[in-house]
Amino acid sequence: MSKVLIYRMKQYLLIFFLFCSFAMNAQYHTTGKELPCVNKVFKVFAHVGISETGETNLTEEEIVETVEAVNKYFEPICISFEVCKIDTMWNYTFNVPREHLYEEMHATFGEDHLIDLYFCFMEFGGPFLCGRTDGTILSDDEGAVYTHKQCPRGLAHELGHLFGLLDTFVPGNNNSLVDYSNCETTGDLICDTPADPFDGSRLEYFIYDCRFIYDGKDANGDYYLTEVGNIMSAYFPCYCGFSRDQLLKMVETYNATPNRFW
Ligand SMILES: [Zn+2]
Repeated sequence: MSKVLIYRMKQYLLIFFLFCSFAMNAQYHTTGKELPCVNKVFKVFAHVGISETGETNLTEEEIVETVEAVNKYFEPICISFEVCKIDTMWNYTFNVPREHLYEEMHATFGEDHLIDLYFCFMEFGGPFLCGRTDGTILSDDEGAVYTHKQCPRGLAHELGHLFGLLDTFVPGNNNSLVDYSNCETTGDLICDTPADPFDGSRLEYFIYDCRFIYDGKDANGDYYLTEVGNIMSAYFPCYCGFSRDQLLKMVETYNATPNRFW
């Protein structure tokens, strides 16, 4: 199973670093609400694509920064990620991989008991691909995360997938109701994330300056109250946190995996 996020980035670079201030009313986890503490540092093995001339276009410092930047989102459940190994992928076709190469990349370079994280360029065929996750930590191959070298803000979202979360949106088949009445069977199957009508088209139809501006209604005729700061949404310039139930779901996934992580 592959979950692919298509992001359109260029309009949003300018507000890339305006972070969380717009989302004061969102229901993200805050201290004082009890959550299980996994108390686990996951070791990350970063695999970096190289160009035909041998360039990575990414420094080791940038890799470490990218990984460390996600830790604040996982801190409520005492999970963190630490880069322990970095290598380069000798075959430059993995630097700008085609669809069929992702599986091969992981089969070639993945290492058991580590979180395998692949850095490559993912822009092709028009849309801007920010990241991708195949499988989860429950999978036989422990899953794999692919991150666009120029889109580090997508990493927390992809790690959410790796730990069993779904997108808050379902392009082409969005029937989640604003009143949460079908939250257990539709959308992301998480009941503290508001319905999200994002359809895979353009972010600017849905957000402006990280304000939700979409004025469509759900099947009941209710306006959406979508949280643009949720990390499992498509609104990556606005990422702010996971919801409480998303954090609980990730703990559940970790507790259920038969795989061992160093
Ligand atoms: Zn996603």
